Amino acid sequence: MNLDYPLHLDADGRWVHTWVRQSSIKTADMCMEKWRTDIFNVVSEPLKDASELGTACHAAVEDLLNARIENQGEMSLPDMLTAFEHYWFDVVDDITVWNKFTAASGYEAGLSKLKNWYEEIYPQLNPVEVEHTFNVPLIEDEFRVVRLTGTVDLIEKDRCWDWKFPSRDYTKQAWEYHRWDVQSIAYAFATGIPDFSYAVMHPKGASRMDLVRDEEHFAWLRQKVLALCKLIESNHRGPYPLNDNGWWCSDKWCENFTRCKGATIGGT
Ligand code: SF4
Repeated sequence: MNLDYPLHLDADGRWVHTWVRQSSIKTADMCMEKWRTDIFNVVSEPLKDASELGTACHAAVEDLLNARIENQGEMSLPDMLTAFEHYWFDVVDDITVWNKFTAASGYEAGLSKLKNWYEEIYPQLNPVEVEHTFNVPLIEDEFRVVRLTGTVDLIEKDRCWDWKFPSRDYTKQAWEYHRWDVQSIAYAFATGIPDFSYAVMHPKGASRMDLVRDEEHFAWLRQKVLALCKLIESNHRGPYPLNDNGWWCSDKWCENFTRCKGATIGGT
């Protein structure tokens, strides 16, 4: 039995699903074939500028919060920016896809985003645990065992937080997040903490968006995931329906693009 494989059978003949993360559920919402090829690693993902910038920003924030939680003394803003500089320039030579930044402009953007986080978000926080990982049962019946896994950026006594470092302010579409955001539902389900906040560090500052999740949201999450599980149990070879009507269907965002839409005249 290979526990890392996204789908396998256990000793009782039940399907075991290990692919379920909030990000994989959101990918399925965009394009089913992108989801299938992602979870089975049909195409490997190169290191990209924007995602590595986000990772370096997360690491610097994590250092600052851990120092405070572990009573190692308060890190200052310059300390955090120095940590970011280390993380960013440590990875720039390995980035192969530069969609948005250069090494220098990524560095400047990171400094600005972290300054906004420090001045506008940090004073609101009472950190308890940073980078909280979870692996919890979501569905279990006679046919399958499904576990939900993930990592929460910050847990407070009564709230989960997630940091975003995007190029636009997501909070302007708050109604969409209230209606169908998966990440907040997954984290509330896994931690038992109903209150969730996004801190969004965009080019014009930092915004906060609060969401509250309950049992009705969890029932919907199970329903969404169960439908995906049944599909992949019946056929994991694909291809699945191809949804190209969105930003995600491009060589910038879909690793499967060159062997899918990019291989046809539609990709030109
Ligand atoms: S190229 Fe477009 S249609 Fe094909 S898998 Fe990617 S997102 Fe889906």
